[in-house]
Amino acid sequence: MSEMFRCNYCGMVLPSPDTFHDLQSCAEYLKSDNARLTAELAELREQVRWIPVSERLPEDCTNALAFENDMFGQRIDIHNYHRTLGWSNNGRVNITVTHWMPLPTPPEGKE
Ligand SMILES: [Zn+2]
Repeated sequence: MSEMFRCNYCGMVLPSPDTFHDLQSCAEYLKSDNARLTAELAELREQVRWIPVSERLPEDCTNALAFENDMFGQRIDIHNYHRTLGWSNNGRVNITVTHWMPLPTPPEGKE
């Protein structure tokens, strides 16, 4: 039995790696892969986007990465958001936050 190869894109079985084959199947594969990657990229961009507090706020009593921009300068730190108490951080309260984003998912495993 001779060795078989598969196209890296469409998966079509080929007699050799450099065999020319119907590019329509490759094109279909690349089109659907491109759509999948575009959607994944949009989702990842949304996860790391600074959300203006005017747009929406975090869930009540959650920590978030917060951006402050006031007369003391710019600061990025983990803050707690509470619906009635507002933003706080290490004993500082009533902090004016302009943007925030959810904290990243912690790494899996113990190391
Ligand atoms: Zn192919």
